[in-house]
Amino acid sequence: MISLLGIPYDGSSSYLKGPALAPARIRRALHCSSSNLSIENGMSLDEVGLIEDLGDLELPPGPEHRREISNAITSILDEGKKSLVLGGDHSISYSILRAYAKRFDVLNVIQFDAHPDLYDELDGDKYSHACPFARLMEEFPHVSLTQIGIRTMNAHCQAQADRFGVRVFEMKDLPAPSILDLAGPVYISLDLDVLDPAFAPGISHHEPGGLSVREVLSYIHQVKNTIVGADVVELNPTRDRNDQTAMVAAKFVKELAGQMAQNGF
Ligand code: MN
Ligand code: MN
Repeated sequence: MISLLGIPYDGSSSYLKGPALAPARIRRALHCSSSNLSIENGMSLDEVGLIEDLGDLELPPGPEHRREISNAITSILDEGKKSLVLGGDHSISYSILRAYAKRFDVLNVIQFDAHPDLYDELDGDKYSHACPFARLMEEFPHVSLTQIGIRTMNAHCQAQADRFGVRVFEMKDLPAPSILDLAGPVYISLDLDVLDPAFAPGISHHEPGGLSVREVLSYIHQVKNTIVGADVVELNPTRDRNDQTAMVAAKFVKELAGQMAQNGF
């Protein structure tokens, strides 16, 4: 069983607010009568036993929100379920993955992103949405991190990637078809800005030269490992056009759920 959970948080966004509005918009896109709940592998999101919607997490103000997120994810894992989170800015993935890293002795994180998100700190904030994977890799050296679609690498983040042993597949070097050859369970963190802004204008940081929707889907469909959890983050509805990006996020939710189910619970 997959537990769908909204985390309406954008307090750690460095440039623009907006992702706190995203979970409701992704749900609305999922249930929009312009489409249906079919998944490309033949399943359907409304199949009995596939998914339960836990609604949105209520977050306390201040740093306690991080513990609240980790606790909510731990509760889902305690029930033998998998979390599929609707963000929220990317800072939330650190709190989600803390729960996973404590649970799994082997954990492969695949991060789709235009940005490495490996800053030691940004604007004085160590928990910025530019930092979650630095915090994760510092605290949990046993986690393996593979990044796909990066196109903003700078010297600091490259040094951080080297320090943490991160496998980085920059946009300029794609496609690299063997990159998903990982051993053990996989967690997928999907920052929508990995897409070219032409496909997904509703994000805070427009980085030209990104992946297409179909290319990201191809990567997801290639994963043969058990997928133990996923998140779709950084939708910013204040920048979207006619819910175009919300529909893309909803598409990813369906296909991630389908791949999670297909690879075994
Ligand atoms: Mn990110
Ligand atoms: Mn990003």
